[in-house]
Amino acid sequence: MKTLKIAVLKGDGIGPEIVDSALEVLDSLASKYNFQYETKEGLIGGIAIDKTGSPLPEETVKICKESDAVLLGAVGGPKWDDLPTDKKPEKGLLGIRKALDLYANLRPAKVFDALIESSPLKESVVKGTDLMVVRELSSDVYYGEPRGITTLENGERYGFNTMGYKESEIRRVVKKAFEIARQRRKKLTSVDKANVLEVSGLWRDIVNEEHKNYQDVELEHLYVDNCAMQLVNRPYSFDTIVTGNIFGDILSDEAGVIQGSLGMLPSASLGDKYALYEPIHGSAPDIAGKGIANPIATILSVAMMFKYSFKMDDVAKAIEDAVDKALAQGYRTQDIYRGEGIKVNTKEMTKKIIENL
Ligand code: NAD
Repeated sequence: MKTLKIAVLKGDGIGPEIVDSALEVLDSLASKYNFQYETKEGLIGGIAIDKTGSPLPEETVKICKESDAVLLGAVGGPKWDDLPTDKKPEKGLLGIRKALDLYANLRPAKVFDALIESSPLKESVVKGTDLMVVRELSSDVYYGEPRGITTLENGERYGFNTMGYKESEIRRVVKKAFEIARQRRKKLTSVDKANVLEVSGLWRDIVNEEHKNYQDVELEHLYVDNCAMQLVNRPYSFDTIVTGNIFGDILSDEAGVIQGSLGMLPSASLGDKYALYEPIHGSAPDIAGKGIANPIATILSVAMMFKYSFKMDDVAKAIEDAVDKALAQGYRTQDIYRGEGIKVNTKEMTKKIIENL
């Protein structure tokens, strides 16, 4: 039996609390689903700065590269807020994504029936929503050169960035998105601005070329402005969405808010060789150490790890179903408590999920 090797980067704030919950779930799965795993902890973020002077020590990168998947909590906090930008805990996050060459960021947005009242949208609009945004993570206007602020001949200041994509950068993320759509409900929406931008024209051409290899997946193209509207108009109609870095940055946050609770949203960042799983929320310094953080986003990140890294869909589904059941039974951490149900802390929520596995 293969031993699954998982690098564990707990980070700061609520990071250690929520990652410990996820590890408890992992532990109870191992006996039920008959797999072996080993974890190795690495430092990242503020705690890494305190102990080693760097937000991403070399040793951490080594641990991650020797693992099959990485589970990360969250980084950052007021203690390190005054450090220069390139020394901040968040630099560790960017650093590890780059070191592992992670180029596809997966952000699911699933509306749980039990939490439907948390959505800012009407129940009739959000019911049944279960979508996945695949955002390109390594290129686009955030990285393009030239960039800067200059002064024009007339003395006016001018700020500029370059939006650009290499064919290979588009192709690898589009292929990944087709594969993911194939594992889901076989529908892919590609989002661009091809009516205005040349880079989007190339994006669209490559999506159409790759579609020939994925004829079983239904493909639609949407302009980004239209997609932003349709996400609130008919979120239930989307399955997998693929888009570039800047459009994906905005659309994945929009999709996330539909679901209504920050503490419920997992994510994955995939490359060709490595993968990293983490909740989308931050280190929540306001509640750190109180034992009340919602562990579900991190537990669902482990479900994604089983689906995308270990190809063990049954385990992923078991975790998702157990979360569904605990919510349906009325258990709520304080962030998702709306006056009804049973208020529980981090450990109690974890126990209820494990009982439902
Ligand atoms: P945050 O996501 O940490 O918190 C926003 C609000 O949501 C807070 O009120 C917090 O208590 C609540 N919250 C977040 N996760 C929760 C959970 N699991 N359970 C219950 N409540 C939860 O965002 P912020 O306050 O803007 O940032 C705090 C720190 O985290 C900053 O240093 C920031 O840079 C960092 N950050 C890190 C990441 C990351 O590690 N990926 C992401 C975002 C922010």
